[in-house]
This record gives sequence, structure tokens and C-alpha cells, in this order.
Amino acid sequence: MSYQSDLYQQVILDHNKNPRNFREIEGHSHSCDGHNPLCGDKIHIHMKLNDGGTIEDIAFSGSGCAISKASASMMTVNVKGKSVDEAKVMFDEFHKMVTGEFEPQPGKHHLGKLTIFQGVREFPSRIKCASLAWHTLVCALDKTGETTME
Ligand code: ZN
Repeated sequence: MSYQSDLYQQVILDHNKNPRNFREIEGHSHSCDGHNPLCGDKIHIHMKLNDGGTIEDIAFSGSGCAISKASASMMTVNVKGKSVDEAKVMFDEFHKMVTGEFEPQPGKHHLGKLTIFQGVREFPSRIKCASLAWHTLVCALDKTGETTME
């Protein structure tokens, strides 16, 4: 097993076991329910944006496979404190990375640990699991709604 896939396993296991920001936010300003019918993953995102357009707080709840949960956990850690525009850039890069259009250097790119999700390319059915939280984030940035992975 390569170093990269070993790291991938470790990080996924860690975030699945101890998901960060796994809660609901009372008085949230934005939210979205994301659903990946292929795998059965369901993720709810709650978010508080401040007047300056910064993600002051973000949390997720729901249930799903280890990859969807770990990805949601890591997404919340990485976008907290970022502006809406920065979060959208990260979504775009993450999406391109998991679909193979973009090759960030692990450890050197501002996506940081998120670059380990490059590993899902080897498992095409898991790409939607990994990107569900990010699609749900973008949906929540538009206020409130629901999104389903097609
Ligand atoms: Zn899944």
C-alpha cells in the first residue's frame, strides 16, 4: 500500500470515528439537506454567515458511509472562517480534484489534507460520497434548500 493511500485510510477512519463539527447550529442562517441516493448518504448542513460574508460557524448532521461522513467533517473544518467566495473556490477545486481534472500536490496545496480525497478517483462509485458535503455546502450558501446527487 502506498503512503498516500495509507494516509487516506487513516484520515477517513479518524474523521469517521470522531467527526468534527458534528452537531446542529441553533439560529443558523443557512442550511441545506444533501442526499446521495446511490449510496444512501444524507447530510444536513447548518451554517451561520456574518454580515461580512464570512462563514462564522458551520456544522453537519445526518448519516452516511465513512467517506461521506469524513468528507463532511473535513469540509466543515476547512471552510470555517472562510469567505463565501473562498469556499466556492475550494468547492470548485475539490470537485475537479476528485473527478481527475486537477492534480494538487499533497501537502503543498491550500486544500491541505483534503488532497487525500484524490484517492477516491480509483473508486468511481465513491466520488459522489466524497463530494456530497461540498455540493450541500454550495446549496446552503444559497440560503436554504435540498440537493440530490444525480
Ligand atoms: Zn457514500
